[in-house]
Amino acid sequence: MKKASVPCPLCLSNTFIHLFSFVNPRSIGAKRLYYEKCKFCTLTRIHPMLKVNELESLYSDVEYFEKLAKPIATPFLNAILSIRFFPEYDEYVEKHTSKGSLLDIGCGNGEFAEKMLLRGWSVQCIEKSIVAAKRAEKRIGIGKIKVGEVTEVDLKSSFDVITAWHVLEHVPNPSEFVHKIGLWLKPKGKFIFELPNADSINLWLFRQYYSWLMVPEHIFYYSPQSIAKLLDLAGLHVVEFSFPTRAILNFSLSVRKIVAQKIGTFVANILFIVSLPLSLLEALLASLTGRSEVVRVVASKN
Ligand SMILES: [Zn+2]
Repeated sequence: MKKASVPCPLCLSNTFIHLFSFVNPRSIGAKRLYYEKCKFCTLTRIHPMLKVNELESLYSDVEYFEKLAKPIATPFLNAILSIRFFPEYDEYVEKHTSKGSLLDIGCGNGEFAEKMLLRGWSVQCIEKSIVAAKRAEKRIGIGKIKVGEVTEVDLKSSFDVITAWHVLEHVPNPSEFVHKIGLWLKPKGKFIFELPNADSINLWLFRQYYSWLMVPEHIFYYSPQSIAKLLDLAGLHVVEFSFPTRAILNFSLSVRKIVAQKIGTFVANILFIVSLPLSLLEALLASLTGRSEVVRVVASKN
């Protein structure tokens, strides 16, 4: 336990529990990073956080978004990764709301926004990276994307639904961010989003060797408890938490990462293949117990 110099942005506590530290794999940010959890609201963060100019240089890097758009594994592994027991984002949104106006925050390459346009939604986007916004414009047309930080963008309209897929973990000022969402939602409007789960079994098991520790750009990791606390700050309440079976190979990928560093690549690759059935089983059990790799949330304006 330690007294932090920067307080928790959700509950303003200065008491953090140190969980582990690791060497920063990127050239941006401090060389050693610390993973710590707020004692009171469970919000988990990487410390020290990237500075504003460092975040800007990361998100103006063309390669960063090209990597995101590329398949991450071989065709065989991608086929396994595409197995889904949960609806895709577009189907999920329509399951919880009727068609109307939608604001997609952090639209990235614009894939989701394009799908929703084709489904007949009125769509607007916010994207802080100019590089990503240009890519998205090619899909959804000019004039639908505001480039900038959510906290600085000014919008005149309000929306039936606001979505943010894997965005919140990148946001340095979450309370200001959700405050804007509260302002932009129509009464009874829905905020629907997905993000990494701080309660993930794999994160708890593998710690600094966790395959999804995307640092330093993932600033905060949220559990259902800290998500509820964050939403409450903006007058929103949780309608549903769900725990999709995404990234079902993370157990095996984490095994490979730890063994590669401790023993060697050859043994790591063998163990990766041998542990694949266990990885699928882990993903299923984690999903059933709320400890999967991601949390999906439907929240409503009070
Ligand atoms: Zn806190």
